Amino acid sequence: MSEADVDMSFAVDPVRVEFSDPGLEREFQQHHLRTTRASLRVTLVFCSLFYLAFSLTDLAALGYGTSFLVLLLGRITVALTACGGLYLIRRKTESVLAHRAVASAAEVVGMAIFMLVVWFRPGELPWHAMSLCIMLIVIYVFIPNRLITAIGIALGATAAFIALAVIRGESRFSDEVTMAMLLLLTNSFGIIAARRYHRLWRDEYRALSTLKALSIRDHLTACFNRRHLHTTLLPQVLERARAERRWLTLMVCDIDHFKRVNDNHGHQGGDAVLMHVAMLLQDRIHEPRDSVVRYGGEEFLLVMPQMDFESAASLSEDMRAAVAGSEVPGPDGKSMRATVSIGVLSVDFSASDTEVTESALIAAADMLLYEAKRAGRNSIRTRLWADMVSTHAVLSMRTA
Ligand code: GH3
Ligand code: MG
Ligand code: MG
Repeated sequence: MSEADVDMSFAVDPVRVEFSDPGLEREFQQHHLRTTRASLRVTLVFCSLFYLAFSLTDLAALGYGTSFLVLLLGRITVALTACGGLYLIRRKTESVLAHRAVASAAEVVGMAIFMLVVWFRPGELPWHAMSLCIMLIVIYVFIPNRLITAIGIALGATAAFIALAVIRGESRFSDEVTMAMLLLLTNSFGIIAARRYHRLWRDEYRALSTLKALSIRDHLTACFNRRHLHTTLLPQVLERARAERRWLTLMVCDIDHFKRVNDNHGHQGGDAVLMHVAMLLQDRIHEPRDSVVRYGGEEFLLVMPQMDFESAASLSEDMRAAVAGSEVPGPDGKSMRATVSIGVLSVDFSASDTEVTESALIAAADMLLYEAKRAGRNSIRTRLWADMVSTHAVLSMRTA
């Protein structure tokens, strides 16, 4: 995986500031959901409390009466919307859509009720403009939502406020112009800040994903590394094969007399052969179901869930023949040739008494590889797990 490939697949759309690949964007949102929920929770609680507390200003401006009660009802509606949202995201912890809907609903209801306040208290427009500026920053920066949704709601609220100021306001023209300019400035800075946040989060995700991908692969061959095999790949595959009672095949593939390749063509030549063999193996498996692991220096372990005995035998023969029949250009200009020996072990988990551990499986496949080596190399040994345990007591001891 080259850096150019990484950059291509993590491209960010410059307008929406989201990953251009919708699948990747979904993965990113899902990965970020815990943080999204935490910030949504904090902002909804704070905003509701402030909305309710500001009913004091209604009381001071309007006195106790119908107008005050209408606004109080409106403010309670905002708080109830927030409560409903908090309940929903508690129930739908895995739904990106639910989190977005909650954020948008809180923003729209909050802005609508704010317009109601402006309608009932038209004499304090400069103060309202100031409140709106703060709320716009909350929408752009604090409430986690899609950038385009935030921009739509914030600009819509700004336009509605300016229209109300013109229709209902008692301010001078110069005040109205100043308010409009202030709101324009807040929107501009809000959009700039929000774009930065959205980009930074995605940059961080890209760095994390790239590091993760690199940490599970071998640098030279791009096959999975041994750590990934033992910590993740094999335990998962084995558990699944057991649970679903399906076939599992392991192949250990070792390059024959590889030391001689190094001796004759240098380490660089050896590396070229390693890369060539890895590529031939990778080309013949079905990713992501099957995996090639670089198990040792010139030894590969192929993990193939759902592959039965016959298919494994014919695939391994195809791999052996492909390596034996190909040439690799050497660093000295001479072409190099290599052969491989392969131990192929297939386990049928549909048999009810199949008990097997990871280390017993690898040990059994390894025994088969050494049988193939003893048979003269450039050859294959295939066996069923059930036949292996019946003839090798040491394996049944490892399984116990
Ligand atoms: P056999 O047929 O029995 O497998 O013989 P072999 O020569 O392939 O096996 P042996 O274990 O004697 O030698 C393996 C060699 O692989 C020794 C080591 O220097 C070389 N090797 C291990 N890792 C690398 C690598 O990353 N690059 C290169 N060029 N050589 C490597
Ligand atoms: Mg070897
Ligand atoms: Mg070896």
